[in-house]
Amino acid sequence: MKMSKIKVAVNGYGTIGKRVADAVALQDDMEIIGVSKTRPNFEARTAALKKYDLYVPGENTDAFKKEGFDVAGTIEEMVKAADIVVDCTPGKVGISNKALYEKEGVKAIWQGGESKDIAPISFNAEANYETAIGADYVRVVSCNTTGLCRVIYPLDQAYGVEKVRVTIVRRGGDPGDIKNGPIDALVADPVKLPSHHGPDVNSIMPHINITSAAIKAPTTFMHLHVLNIKLKKDCTAAEIKSLLASRPRIRMIADGISSTAEIIELGRDIGRPRNDIWENCIFEDSVSIDDGELYLFQAIHQESDVIPETIDAIRAMTGIEKDNKKSIEKTNKSMGIGI
Ligand code: NAD
Repeated sequence: MKMSKIKVAVNGYGTIGKRVADAVALQDDMEIIGVSKTRPNFEARTAALKKYDLYVPGENTDAFKKEGFDVAGTIEEMVKAADIVVDCTPGKVGISNKALYEKEGVKAIWQGGESKDIAPISFNAEANYETAIGADYVRVVSCNTTGLCRVIYPLDQAYGVEKVRVTIVRRGGDPGDIKNGPIDALVADPVKLPSHHGPDVNSIMPHINITSAAIKAPTTFMHLHVLNIKLKKDCTAAEIKSLLASRPRIRMIADGISSTAEIIELGRDIGRPRNDIWENCIFEDSVSIDDGELYLFQAIHQESDVIPETIDAIRAMTGIEKDNKKSIEKTNKSMGIGI
């Protein structure tokens, strides 16, 4: 018997939403039934070119039609037709959609810009996939928290993590984001420590002792993490490199690369869509052990690392795959992760 595909709607077709839609479209066990836009801008035009059905707020329908768009219906109608909605509206906006998802009895995933209280489960595919099996509401944690979990989880499994100290140099804005900065400053973000990233890791791995600080920098490409981890068991840098290289969403960066700009260039050279680097990028030469503590640099592509996690969250919540390794492998293969 042929299994029907999971019907996925993307509410908010921006930086994350458009990537989620394209990744869902690559899967053989799910399909995109529509994406939503609030304004008839260039992203709406691209959605139409990609033949995604476009849903809009009822009161904006005429504005879209005036600009020559075919409108499939209202956002409420899109939600009603879906098995699961991936809410990719801007941070703190997604909470206002919760009542609609509840009313329509539709499962929903939010992204990391929402507070952890929006859903009972914060998600990372390697660290806690099983907690999301059959769940109605899940939050896929932010790009930085995703990047931290991908490193901390395997180290904790193999050696036990005593404590983590991380400094995050954050990109000021995304490439298409004309509103954010800074243009010429390094901003303690926030000044009051710790930043929210360490506590956010605890929403997935509550037992990890972690403190974080973040600095916003005038760059759009990626975040850079400076990680210092005290492990419970002795090990060598070579063992750590080999462990991390074996993880499904970690890419060891070598061949003379020492910057985020070169990693994005690598993304262009290997033909990644939108230059996306879905994997954590660990600078191989930075991995070192000093006085029993591990140090490393990793770069995180903020626009894309949460996309495969979102695909896995859909599989867990709808119960179509209960084994996280199989889901991760399927998602990676479909998207070309690891290539
Ligand atoms: P974005 O601003 O690029 O896109 C949001 C989209 O939602 C826009 O197209 C906007 O027009 C639309 N929108 C706004 N209000 C809406 C509403 N009420 N209903 C439907 N659509 C609406 O934002 P983003 O960067 O894609 O962020 C989305 C979520 O993902 C946030 O929670 C954010 O924190 C999280 N996130 C972002 C990044 C990143 O680097 N951009 C990384 C990881 C997680």
